[in-house]
This record gives sequence, structure tokens and C-alpha cells, in this order.
Amino acid sequence: MIQLNAHHVWYLIMAAQWTVLLSLVAFAGGALVGLPIALMRVSPSQVESFTRCGLRWLLEVAAGARSVDVVRHFGIVIHAAAVLAAEGAADDLIGDRIDEVWHHLDFGSAWYSKKQRELAHQMVDKFLAWHRQNPRDLVAFEESVRAQVGAVEITGRVDRLERDAEGRAIVVDLKTGSAPAPATDLDRHPQLGVYQLAVMLGAFERFGLTEPGGAELVQVGKASLAAQVRVQPQRSLADGPEPGWARELVETVAAGMAGPLFEARLNPGCRNCPVASSCPAHTSGEQVTP
Ligand code: SF4
Repeated sequence: MIQLNAHHVWYLIMAAQWTVLLSLVAFAGGALVGLPIALMRVSPSQVESFTRCGLRWLLEVAAGARSVDVVRHFGIVIHAAAVLAAEGAADDLIGDRIDEVWHHLDFGSAWYSKKQRELAHQMVDKFLAWHRQNPRDLVAFEESVRAQVGAVEITGRVDRLERDAEGRAIVVDLKTGSAPAPATDLDRHPQLGVYQLAVMLGAFERFGLTEPGGAELVQVGKASLAAQVRVQPQRSLADGPEPGWARELVETVAAGMAGPLFEARLNPGCRNCPVASSCPAHTSGEQVTP
């Protein structure tokens, strides 16, 4: 008779855990991943998350393994403030509306909620200061984007669409996270690059904007500076040495999403990954086949 020790039991539990997880992924993936892939639609943020880690993208889309609520709550608040500011609301009114929204968000305890609300107000204050001194014209906010790259459709929404002094489009993406994008990666930041590609493909022709002048991440969360937002610009695609990189990236990512392998790639976002506890990259660097 085989005697099981603690290690055997642990391996059996891990095997069972992965079996259940992958079964769920395969089941949910068929419906949730298969449909958008069949339609060949990708959003700029999906291109970003798939490029960073294929496994996390798969589990977030197919199995609903999302980030913790507080991250989403900050996103809701800052986007609400951005919309109000764009509509010309006074700072006091924006602060009051943030408090109203806050009452409907669940933080688990009144103490924690109060602490996070102070942080949210700091984010909003930084955003409003940036918004007021921004010299560009705000053309649209929360604007839908659609563009076609061969058989692949780019779909999504931009936080802010602006026009610079030379009449070019600048897409601004507001970020509430704790880590800025590495400065060395900005020229190839996938989400910003796909926004610029969409501009080139005529996504905002209705506003007379067909040439991208660049794109920006505006960090209002812990990734910002002490007293102001951190602006992380990407130069215009046309000014770079390889202006076709964003198009190639969209095609590569769309093919990868439809493929059989989803690679777990270690990256700075692993710290906050909701599936890190069961990620094979931290042990053996495996790939997952749904
Ligand atoms: S922990 Fe890192 S490598 Fe693993 S799934 Fe999450 S983001 Fe990917």
C-alpha cells in the first residue's frame, strides 16, 4: 500500500486546484473569450493586459478574476470627477458628488471607507489642478473608439480626447494605480499606441482629428507626484523610428488571444495580480492551455 506524506497531499491539492481552475477557464472561456475572438474585437486596454501577461488576461476575462474593489472604486470616482469637470462643474459641486458616490461603494468598514475617501479627494484635487492648467482643447470625454485593422476591430472608450496647438489628437488615459509605467517603456506602451493607431485609422475623423500628436497617461493615484499628477507622454507614432509597431502589435495580440497558449509572464503588476497565489510562473514558469 502507498503511504501518503504531507508533500504528496499538498501536490494532490495543487493538482486538484489547477484541474478545477482550468476546467472553469475552459468552460467560461468558450463563451466569454471565444465570442470576442470569433468577432475579432480587441480594446486598447486588452492589448495592454494581454501583452503584459497572457494568463492574467485569460483569467480576468474568462474567469472574472478581477482586481480588488478599492482599485475599481477609485476608477469610478476619478472618472466621475473628470466628466463633471469637463461639463464645467465647480470644484465644490464635484467634491459633494464624490461624497454621494462614495456612500454607495462598499469598503467593508466605515473606518477604511473614510481613509480611502480622503485619498480619493486628494486624487480628484490633483486631477482638477491638472485639468485647469491643461492648455489643449478638450474635444470629447468618455468617447467611444472604433477602428479596423484588417480582420480585427479595435473597440473601446477614451477618457479624454484633446486637440493640441497643431490640430493633432492627443488621447489621455487617467490612471489611479500605484505604479507608474516605466519611463523606458513609454514609447512602446501598448494601450497608448493602440489609441494613436485608432486616431490614424480615422476613429475620430468626426471631430476633424486624423493625425495623432501623441498620447498620455495621467497618473492621479499613488503613482503620481507628491503634490500633482504625473504625466507620462508617448510621442506621436509618426515621430518614432518604427511607426508601424502598434498595428503589428494589434495583429500579434489578436492572433495570440485566438491561440492555444496563454503564457504567464512575470511583470511589475504581479504584486497586485488577483491570481498570483495560483500562478505557475512563480514556481515553474509553465504555460496554460485552456
Ligand atoms: S502573477 Fe504575474 S505572471 Fe502570474 S498570472 Fe499574475 S501577472 Fe501573470
